[in-house]
Amino acid sequence: MTDTDHRDRHGDLHQGLHPGLRHVTEGVRAHVAALAPDELPAYVYDLAALRAHAAAVRAALPERVELYYAAKANPEAPLLTALRAAVDGYEVSSGGELAHVRAAVPDAPLAFGGPGKTPAEIAAAVEAGVHRWHVESEQELHRLAAVLADRPGTVVDVLLRVNLAVTTDALDAVPLAMGGRPTPFGLDPDQAEECVRALTDGPLGRQLRLRGVHAHLASGLAAEEQLSVASQIVAWSAALAGRHGFPLAEVNIGGGMAVDYEDPAARFDWTAFGEGLAKLLDAHPGLTLRIEPGRALTAYCGWYATEVLDVKQSHGEDFAVVRGGTHHLRTPATRGHSQPFEVLPVDAWPYPWARPAVTTGRATLSGQLCTPKDVLAHAADGADGLRASDRVLFSMAGAYAWNISHHEFLMHPRPGFHYL
Ligand SMILES: *Cc1c(COP(=O)(O)O)cnc(C)c1O
Repeated sequence: MTDTDHRDRHGDLHQGLHPGLRHVTEGVRAHVAALAPDELPAYVYDLAALRAHAAAVRAALPERVELYYAAKANPEAPLLTALRAAVDGYEVSSGGELAHVRAAVPDAPLAFGGPGKTPAEIAAAVEAGVHRWHVESEQELHRLAAVLADRPGTVVDVLLRVNLAVTTDALDAVPLAMGGRPTPFGLDPDQAEECVRALTDGPLGRQLRLRGVHAHLASGLAAEEQLSVASQIVAWSAALAGRHGFPLAEVNIGGGMAVDYEDPAARFDWTAFGEGLAKLLDAHPGLTLRIEPGRALTAYCGWYATEVLDVKQSHGEDFAVVRGGTHHLRTPATRGHSQPFEVLPVDAWPYPWARPAVTTGRATLSGQLCTPKDVLAHAADGADGLRASDRVLFSMAGAYAWNISHHEFLMHPRPGFHYL
């Protein structure tokens, strides 16, 4: 996590770029240092870093792999715009996301997925002209066809989302079975066969054009595991297409590329992944692959910056209470991890009383909520020497952070939002 040697035990602080701030970009560090205490907490995004990261991901992928961004991970408009040059489109999973993403990046192709699409959402998506439909059930085919019946001449492109049983067979990992168990997502393989028949033989096929298969089966997979899953999805899809005699144009192998919260410097191996996908494509001429990562694109570009309000000793342990908490950054509570953070020391202490500080070498960083679940980092070594008024930057807060948090709980003020 953080270096613990960034200041000596007597509080002799260093100014300027701190060796402790290894993963905080210079722009973010300077920006947070210049904020007034009442401007904290704040989400600070480094859009230049996001653009560079997304461009590197794109560059690692073969031409016949389309890169979509799953807006669910973080739909903030400046991020969507920053990603535009590197992505082929955006995956949206609700009518709300659809309208929002269309407004933010009007020219971008959209793939519309998600279970339980309402008739109104389907009508709006037909109206908006989405690029791909990820159909989750047989009834959804009928609902879509019913909307299209009022628009003769309109044809939409469909991928059937399947819930396949696959295994990962990465060299040093125990094979892990995924998919193939009960979920509300997608079609069982036999149901997919039925839907293919309905689309290729029946009237449903008049306005619904079957392009291929979509499968998003797991999250947190490393490149080797992702490749193993991808080749199984493609093999199954090719066999399905062969059985029914339709041309397999596309397979969307989903998102879920690994993000390691214990190592903010680690990245999914996009180079190995791209090379593996190139081999897979060599074996399937004419096939287009699509991926739709969310977390692995935007997690690294956001920080939740705040300050220490108080440091307390409780039954032998140190607690640093920060402005804000899990109502702004729910990620650690949801995932049961400690959010990585780095400390920006603040020298000024204008008060006449003693400055509260961590003395046990570690502290739990908690927020302002009156619940013991409001913990951002548990018994963290990186909090050694932390004092009231020091600033803390929680990293990897660019995805599934603000937008999954329960903002109204306890009625604290909202954080600021800054896009650099
Ligand atoms: C959530 C989701 C994604 C993105 O997953 P990440 O783990 O953020 O990469 C992609 N596709 C579908 C269908 C999803 O539900």
